[in-house]
Amino acid sequence: MSLPRITVAHGDGIGPEIMAATLNILEAAGAQLAYDTIEIGEKVYLRGQTAGIDESSWEKLIQNKIFLKAPITTPQGGGFKSLNVTVRKSLGLYSNVRPCRSYNPFIRTKHPGMDLVIIRENEEDLYAGIEHRQTDEVYQCLKVISKPGCEKIVRYAFEFAKRAGRKKVTCFTKDNIMKMTDGIFHKVFDEIGAEYPGLEKEHWIVDIGAAKLADTPEVFDVIVMPNLYGDILSDVAAQIAGSVGLAGSSNIGEHCAMFEAIHGSAPRRAGQDLANPSGLLLGAVQMLVHMGQGKAAEKVHNAWLKTIEDGVHTYDIYQEGISKKKVGTKEFAKAVCQRMGEEPLKLAKASYAAAEPLVLPTPKPAPAAKKELIGVDVFVHERLRDPEEIAKRVKQAAKDLPVELQMISNRGVKVWPQGLKETFCTDHWRCRMVAKEGGTTNPGVIWMLLRELSQANVDVIKTENLYLFNGEKGFSLGQGQ
Ligand code: NAD
Repeated sequence: MSLPRITVAHGDGIGPEIMAATLNILEAAGAQLAYDTIEIGEKVYLRGQTAGIDESSWEKLIQNKIFLKAPITTPQGGGFKSLNVTVRKSLGLYSNVRPCRSYNPFIRTKHPGMDLVIIRENEEDLYAGIEHRQTDEVYQCLKVISKPGCEKIVRYAFEFAKRAGRKKVTCFTKDNIMKMTDGIFHKVFDEIGAEYPGLEKEHWIVDIGAAKLADTPEVFDVIVMPNLYGDILSDVAAQIAGSVGLAGSSNIGEHCAMFEAIHGSAPRRAGQDLANPSGLLLGAVQMLVHMGQGKAAEKVHNAWLKTIEDGVHTYDIYQEGISKKKVGTKEFAKAVCQRMGEEPLKLAKASYAAAEPLVLPTPKPAPAAKKELIGVDVFVHERLRDPEEIAKRVKQAAKDLPVELQMISNRGVKVWPQGLKETFCTDHWRCRMVAKEGGTTNPGVIWMLLRELSQANVDVIKTENLYLFNGEKGFSLGQGQ
């Protein structure tokens, strides 16, 4: 029988060293794997591929479905797109699973009881990468959150928790401010959470949640969050557990999956046989579990835990008085291989008896709502800091149309009517036009409005339609409105 083939990339900086160590350990554990190697990262970027990956490599990734990836170096300067974000999004790897656990008393940590898993949404949010410069002064990044995107990640978090025998799922959002985007994430968490009566559920506003995570991480179990918060807080969690060098991560999609360390290519440590291969190795353990090779996963993980217990440590976790021997990358890998078949004596041992991929079906599309167009936000570039004058010109342009100016805001805060002179204004104004007498309007009216504004030399840089969905506002109010 042929071995399951996976795609491997050795990456940049410390990547080749930690990958070699990882593959040696997998082989010693008897993992059933065959490899196809692809080149990614710095060399590919510098050949002129702005995505950091050759076109021909995609075929391998799609064919093999499983990708074990060492960290890469993204060259400085503009024009290079993040390879990680491209691979995650192109292959639909929506769920980023990052376990963060402390190994007290063998690796120094302020949080001996910490053992949590961060499940980060991996495709949406500010990582949609939709950015525009709109005026002399204003730049915009769109935060895009979809209901099916929330459903996929939230369901994944609950299924993961259930399967892993975890007790609680916590959600972090900032829905007190972003009531629509983070609001839908929280709402979906409440709705899907109700289907899991055996699991405790809680929601924290991300700022106080993050503070609590840094202070008392032992009270958390599984935490699910939108992309940006998850990116930042999983690094914090890994670092306070002991070292970023220890955390592995999986990126799971419906068709493909990618496994990696959470740290980068640490170029200053490259080529010196210094780096800790544990992050990538623990990523590879997640890979074996995902591939149904639970026995091999268990063997690797337990041999690694025993090595840590025996005080055989790389420089980043070495502590006088705790560690027994400071080793380089190769010697660390050798020490793990030598302990293959052994189990830790004090640390909780790993058990992956019921290993199988956690792959969930695509959620159904949201049902179509009754959608009514009731107005439009017209964004205007105007250097003159005079909302009264802007209002006069916009009202004049719209005087014969069935829409009227309701409000002008600047960076979200209402400045007309009755703004405060203390409010700082930029050259970026939002003029909210609504159908007269609270009715509906149509795209033809908006086109006419834009033509009138253009003829009046009002510099419109974009519009955003205002809809009611089943009678509910599909837009936020201006601050102070
Ligand atoms: P980094 O994670 O590479 O390194 C930060 C520091 O952490 C290092 O200087 C080192 O002291 C320590 N460290 C990290 N991993 C270690 C390990 N395995 N063993 C021992 N010590 C370790 O972060 P950085 O310096 O900000 O980024 C370096 C490069 O990596 C950049 O080009 C960045 O774009 C890239 N990067 C890649 C990935 C990825 O491919 N997944 C992720 C993050 C950063």
